Amino acid sequence: DDNLLKKIVAHAKEYGFVFPSSEIYDGLGAAYDYGQNGAELKNNIKSYWWKSMVQMNENIVGIDAAIFMHPTTWKASGHVDAFNDPLIDNKDSKKRYRADVLIEEYIAKVEAKINKEVEKAAKRFGDKFDKDQFVATNDRVVRYTEEIDMINSRMKAAIESGNLNQLKALIEELGIADPVSGSKNWTDVRQFNLMFSTELGSLAEGANKIYLRPETAQGIFVNFLNVQKTGRMKLPFGIAQIGKAFRNEIIARQFIFRMREFEQMEMQFFVKPGEEMQWYEHWKEQRMKWHKVLGLGEENYRYHDHLNLAHYANAACDIEFNFPMGFKELEGIHSRTDFDLKAHEEYSGKKLQFFDHQENKSYVPYVVETSIGLDRLFLAVLTSAYTEETLEDGSERTVLKIPAALAPSKVAVLPLLQKDGLPEKGREILDKIKYDFACQYDEKDTIGKRYRRQDAIGTPYCITIDHQTLEDNTVTLRDRDTAKQERIDISELKSRIEELVSL
Ligand code: ATP
Repeated sequence: DDNLLKKIVAHAKEYGFVFPSSEIYDGLGAAYDYGQNGAELKNNIKSYWWKSMVQMNENIVGIDAAIFMHPTTWKASGHVDAFNDPLIDNKDSKKRYRADVLIEEYIAKVEAKINKEVEKAAKRFGDKFDKDQFVATNDRVVRYTEEIDMINSRMKAAIESGNLNQLKALIEELGIADPVSGSKNWTDVRQFNLMFSTELGSLAEGANKIYLRPETAQGIFVNFLNVQKTGRMKLPFGIAQIGKAFRNEIIARQFIFRMREFEQMEMQFFVKPGEEMQWYEHWKEQRMKWHKVLGLGEENYRYHDHLNLAHYANAACDIEFNFPMGFKELEGIHSRTDFDLKAHEEYSGKKLQFFDHQENKSYVPYVVETSIGLDRLFLAVLTSAYTEETLEDGSERTVLKIPAALAPSKVAVLPLLQKDGLPEKGREILDKIKYDFACQYDEKDTIGKRYRRQDAIGTPYCITIDHQTLEDNTVTLRDRDTAKQERIDISELKSRIEELVSL
């Protein structure tokens, strides 16, 4: 739902979660800055991931590799030669597009036509409507379906053979026009590498071109031996990392879903060759469980198994989330074989192997990886949290129902009035809990307005200090989602909140 995405973007900006990058200069395409609440939420997501991967697993350790890497890394990984998008320009509008995306958008239009026919027929036939039968027999729908099959198979053939001008031919045959100008005057299709490059030091041109890493994984592969030796790791074991990655995405729409600078949380799990499928299934299941515990709604997740595998993989799937734009990739689980370590052995001349004492021999381990976009998970949290509702007392509110463990602030301390010693009491309470919980303190405006502000940034609990507090040392604790309040002794606050905000 486009409208929902727009609302989330506006809310994220208004409440200090996400700003367009360098906004005073009108922003920069597909780059975003995280504001005061966004940075907290992001840190909480990271720490939840890090804890469950590194802290909870004896055989997984975490590292933090540099973004800059020796340029040969990217030759070995295949990114210099194969990390490309097929681009086409319109000669009249001078706009640039991904050729495959133009064709996919055309397919989406044909699909919409099919859906329209189905809807019309469903209305006409009422209860007696058999959708499968209709789709299989209706002349028009059959023609549309055949057209889609033809386009898909030609697109696949073009990409697989590397003969990209077959994409141009397809675009021309289908009469696809530039969405901006309507012109059908297209250039040839050419490969465009998604890696950003820059120059190291100030030596002569070309010699020292380096790249901003397009994935964090390679920082782990090149450190395989270092970690294995210094950590005395035995197979199977994992190396985890959270860090920035950069891709010069051409289609960079949809807010923080597709950015040019983003963050990945990856874990490469090294296993004995032949055991990779069993570990692939293990991680596929574990990662889905992890998501479901998070509390964004089990119905919002699904698997998407890959049939067309990347050059390095022997099995791969995505965990998709129901974003405002529909179900889209949130995390990838890939069985990468020994592709990367073997390639690095070849290019570096170093042995990247594990000595197996039981078998009394060395071999290059296989790798199963889990790779999730931190910013995409952030967007998933906002998507599931954003709620507009009317409370029992008739008042309307926009509330972010962020899982308490991830919420930017856990508690807000709110003296009912700015007098009678209530603010002093409030500060006293704040001092007692602020080391343990991220807190807000607010004494301005009516209490109702203050509750709305906390709702809007997703603070799960509000502590209100009133005159009774001065008499009996109790406060009210208000729950964000139910708006219900309980009265509780100040001495019990810390343990009660702890219990409420832990996952
Ligand atoms: P997509 O098909 O959406 O481009 P991908 O298959 O290229 O993604 P991977 O290379 O598998 O993505 O990267 C792993 C994860 O990194 C993805 O699941 C996604 O969450 C995240 N990711 C990839 N590209 C971006 C991007 N441009 N912006 C934000 N997150 C990204």
